[in-house]
Amino acid sequence: MMAPRSISIFGATGSVGSSTLDLIRREPGAYQVLALTGGSDVAKLAAAAIEHRARRAVIADETRYADLKQALAGTDIEVAAGEQALIDVAEMGADWTMASIVGCAGLAPTLAAIAQGRTVALANKEALVSAGEVMMAAVARSGATLLPVDSEHNAIFQCLASGHISEVRKITLTASGGPFRTATREEMHQVTPAQAVKHPNWSMGRKISVDSATMMNKGLEFIEAFHLFPVGLDRLSILVHPQSVVHSMVEFRDRSTIAQLGSPDMRIPIASSLAWPARMETPCEPLDLGRIGRLDFEAPDEERFPALRLAREAIEAGGGYPAALNAANEVAVAAFLDGRAGFLDISVIVEDVLARCGAGAIDTIEDVQAIDRSARAMAQQLTAELIN
Ligand code: NAD
Ligand code: MG
Repeated sequence: MMAPRSISIFGATGSVGSSTLDLIRREPGAYQVLALTGGSDVAKLAAAAIEHRARRAVIADETRYADLKQALAGTDIEVAAGEQALIDVAEMGADWTMASIVGCAGLAPTLAAIAQGRTVALANKEALVSAGEVMMAAVARSGATLLPVDSEHNAIFQCLASGHISEVRKITLTASGGPFRTATREEMHQVTPAQAVKHPNWSMGRKISVDSATMMNKGLEFIEAFHLFPVGLDRLSILVHPQSVVHSMVEFRDRSTIAQLGSPDMRIPIASSLAWPARMETPCEPLDLGRIGRLDFEAPDEERFPALRLAREAIEAGGGYPAALNAANEVAVAAFLDGRAGFLDISVIVEDVLARCGAGAIDTIEDVQAIDRSARAMAQQLTAELIN
């Protein structure tokens, strides 16, 4: 038998983290879990650490350290808390690390894992959007293998197995269009958080669900694709596909287009990254095109979904603009989720921050973090002004 592969998961208590653990659970003996991390959900983190016999459990929220310690009392699982403890996880040297923290909060741990030069499965799109060139340079420097988990990017990665990237004519990212695909701006004005997080096809964390509703998610993914697949912005496009069956496609110079299809279940792209370059069994629904009957496609609408335009403008401007876009969006989405901003305010706040931030060049992670901080402060200020 092969030696078990060592695994760490950043964001193990979230949607992607839990799906990853679900796959690992199905192959007893194939993996050895080194570290699991969570943001603040002690009970869920402790239960996962015990079930998967993790060597270490790390909670990001330092005020929850004592609770975690207590929840794991009587086990030999190491307990740690705080930002540095997350970064220290990377030094445990897992063969395979899942980066599935939500938001730019995942940047430092993801970069620390990349620096180890092993395999990093990347779900945490906000980190790549913010750090762009800095992260890709770190990958090149350490020789790490970066596997895209986001379903579209995982699809593109799979499509690229059938031709060289230098022969790509066009990459098309598909988008479900979210819960308000056919809504008017008027209707979107009234939207509540409960409506916005109800995605028609995918079950996901709250932040990415709101991003899908504003289509900022596709904007972030456009930037993500720009860094992962360096074909140039003019070869990247977005197509709305309400059924979420075709996860993305790649057209080559001979006009042959390769697409990747599957049920909308994140365990499929996660499994593809976990087993890569091999394939593993999953419990996912087989694709039944006969039952689905038809696949629809339509052009995205930047008027109703200004987030698409803002993301494109941010990556065209380059430098720190994508980091500012992401930070402003994180703040605005959080404000929307707790009732301090309306749904349409999200893009207004992001646009205002982009107009004011004057984001310069980024060469280091510290540059990214500085722009992230100042864009957050600006977005907080704008959000506070909304209420008054
Ligand atoms: P989630 O909210 O369900 O989980 C996020 C995880 O990050 C949790 O473990 C949480 O405790 C942790 N976390 C949150 N804030 C933290 C902080 N400040 N410091 C440390 N840890 C923190 O989110 P999710 O839906 O699993 O998404 C995770 C990432 O994967 C996001 O970047 C998202 O865009 C991306 N992604 C998710 C899906 C999906 O289907 N859920 C699909 C594609 C990409
Ligand atoms: Mg996606």
